[in-house]
Amino acid sequence: AKESGRHAVCLFSPDIDHWGAQRLKLRHEIRPAIEQRQFVLHYQPQFRVADNAVAGAEALVRWQHPKLGLLNPIAFLEIAEASPVINELGAWICDEACRQLASWNRLGHTLIMSINVSARQLGNPALHEMFAACARKHGVDPKFIKIEITESMLSQDVSIAEAGLNKLKEYGFRIALDDFGTGYSNFTYLHRFPVTALKIDRSFVQPIAQDAKALAMLNGIISLAKAINLTVICEGVETENQREALLGTGCDLIQGYLTGRPLVAEEFTQLHLTNVRK
Ligand code: C2E
Ligand code: CA
Ligand code: CA
Ligand code: CA
Repeated sequence: AKESGRHAVCLFSPDIDHWGAQRLKLRHEIRPAIEQRQFVLHYQPQFRVADNAVAGAEALVRWQHPKLGLLNPIAFLEIAEASPVINELGAWICDEACRQLASWNRLGHTLIMSINVSARQLGNPALHEMFAACARKHGVDPKFIKIEITESMLSQDVSIAEAGLNKLKEYGFRIALDDFGTGYSNFTYLHRFPVTALKIDRSFVQPIAQDAKALAMLNGIISLAKAINLTVICEGVETENQREALLGTGCDLIQGYLTGRPLVAEEFTQLHLTNVRK
């Protein structure tokens, strides 16, 4: 037992060191990687329930790492958020998403681009200026940009977040409360902050096809959100049964693997924007 215990420790601790070192290494690689254009945005379509048209896209960041391959945000976002480098990455994401939106606009497509921001970005008092400058640079109207925040961010540095969000709203940006249903789902946030859309998490959406109670709850949340004029997006829609169950709920937009996975811009254009009436 002692033998195997020691063996386990031997196997385990170098792994922890390795992971710690890997994280540190990745953190230092982020800034040069932005310059070397190793980050890419994938875009996931959002479909309007009313007419089944592509109404928007959510920009989702990936890192094409030269040694580790294509990394999902889970592999590097937390690392980036632990340092001010998240502001640079966030600025690159905003610039790239606005550039792509302008490019789709030139092709005649009217879309709303959803852009995620992290907690640390929301605590940055210059965030609204960064978004405004990006929109101006690419000639896109802020009303076609939807900034996604989560409620956990609102429970933290509330005063800065509140001021920043109010400015963004004044400039005309849309603001979505993301992952609704995963945290405390505190309705006072909807009242206090200038949120224009509610994005309901997949953990709420996915059970509705087999679970009447889950469907009743979703209906209640959507009625409430609609009563205060929020746009409602249901995310994580993976099956036809889930989609059908959603049709009667009054939700405005659906997003999920069923209707479209995140794709690079060219593939998104090919699959979702060709043969669409302008
Ligand atoms: P999120 O904002 O909730 O984004 C939705 C995530 O769910 C994405 O994962 C997407 O690929 C995935 N997804 C979409 N449809 C389905 C579905 O039908 N089923 C399932 N199981 N998953 C689905 P992804 O791209 O790995 O992003 C994970 C998280 O990383 C995002 O969650 C967001 O919090 C964060 N993130 C992604 N891109 C950015 C970014 O550009 N900036 C910031 N600050 N955070 C980002
Ligand atoms: Ca999101
Ligand atoms: Ca989400
Ligand atoms: Ca999330």
